[in-house]
Amino acid sequence: MGVKVVKFGGSSLADAGQIKKAAAIIKADPERRFMVPSAPGKRFDADIKVTDMLYACYEKASLGEDFTADFQMIKDRYNGIIADLGVDVSLEAQFEQIRQNLATAGREYAASRGEFLNGIIIAAYLGFEFVDAADVIVFNDEGMMMRHETVAKLRERLEGVECAVIPGFYGRSVSGVVRTFSRGGSDVTGSLLARAVRASVYENWTDVSGMLVADPRIVDQPLEIPVITYKELRELAYMGASVLHEDAIFPVRTAGIPINIRNTNRPEDAGTMIIPDDSAEESQRTITGIAGKKGFSAINIEKSMMNSEIGFCRDVLNVIADLGISFEHMPSGIDTMSVIVDTDSLKGKEDQLLEALRKTVNPDHVEIEHEVALLAVVGKGMRRTHGTAARIFAALAHARINVKMIDQGSSELNVIVGVNEHDLHQAIRCIYDVAVRRTYDVFITSSLV
Ligand code: ASP
Repeated sequence: MGVKVVKFGGSSLADAGQIKKAAAIIKADPERRFMVPSAPGKRFDADIKVTDMLYACYEKASLGEDFTADFQMIKDRYNGIIADLGVDVSLEAQFEQIRQNLATAGREYAASRGEFLNGIIIAAYLGFEFVDAADVIVFNDEGMMMRHETVAKLRERLEGVECAVIPGFYGRSVSGVVRTFSRGGSDVTGSLLARAVRASVYENWTDVSGMLVADPRIVDQPLEIPVITYKELRELAYMGASVLHEDAIFPVRTAGIPINIRNTNRPEDAGTMIIPDDSAEESQRTITGIAGKKGFSAINIEKSMMNSEIGFCRDVLNVIADLGISFEHMPSGIDTMSVIVDTDSLKGKEDQLLEALRKTVNPDHVEIEHEVALLAVVGKGMRRTHGTAARIFAALAHARINVKMIDQGSSELNVIVGVNEHDLHQAIRCIYDVAVRRTYDVFITSSLV
């Protein structure tokens, strides 16, 4: 029998009703033996996540202000869950200990208590063993998680354990201080656990039925993504489209474990399967996803005979690197090159950069252009289909969108297009219409004939 690790996000555990749904999902499959909970999230739009309540409490406590009322709200939240679940648990001793430690044990300790307390309740409700993440997730004193040590500790601690709840988001440093990952870090705990127990799949339960081909705020009712490879996910995540914490990818990716994004409110939906890059299973679609991001600048450089000047690009990149700016893309022509950088990284350095470039490579022309947006059309399937790029650029031309740069990696996994920021949404919509919606409609129509 395989083992599945299941992580439930805050909205999936926001109240007793949601916890019951999560428990039913876990009990429906005996392979779901290890569970990672987040802290209770929002029950409705204006609600406050327990983690945010804890941060606020800590701020007051650390300033010596009275936090009794804030803390009482947190206690009420958990006591409400306990009462509604009808589970025989009392957290009074833990509440008292947290209250006493709040001002002194640090901000991360305070935030971590959300998962800790939720984990105790859920373990009791499921009849699973509670394993404190502080005993198994190891951080160094700089606050970086130590992967090898963590996986080893998890393996040792879970040896012979049938079923367990391990709270997400936190661990303990080698010198004994409770540390947390960055926000959303329970995803990372789940990933480490999946690796440690050699899970057949890491199920990440949230409040959406997986990833969508495009952002639904931009494209009307985009298709869901049934299957995506880790590499494709990385490309889309770079452009800001992701449902997972970035650091959750590495532990499972290197172990070849797939991640399944699922919806706690619609467990019948298959969700999105994130699969290893060399997996035999493959998406039938040419384009897996489209995502875009604003906030880039282009450093445009022109010099005649640039192509025959040995070391020209290297000198340009050295100037950029010496100023501590990292570059994102570098499309080039015969006598022109552009270096695309994050606009924020240029702040306060523009004059210096232009001056250094003029001095070092003596260009005919150099300028910095702001308000550039990049969009990535990602799909492993582009390698086996013809005409995708033609359709993308025909769509942009038809919509009268000026293309500033084009970059297609040699892996043919993605096409990156630079446009004006104000054209970004329109560009995504028209590419989606031409390269996804129509292709898919044709596919449906032809399979019906
Ligand atoms: N509770 C933490 C947060 O709100 C961690 C998590 O939910 O993954 O960021």
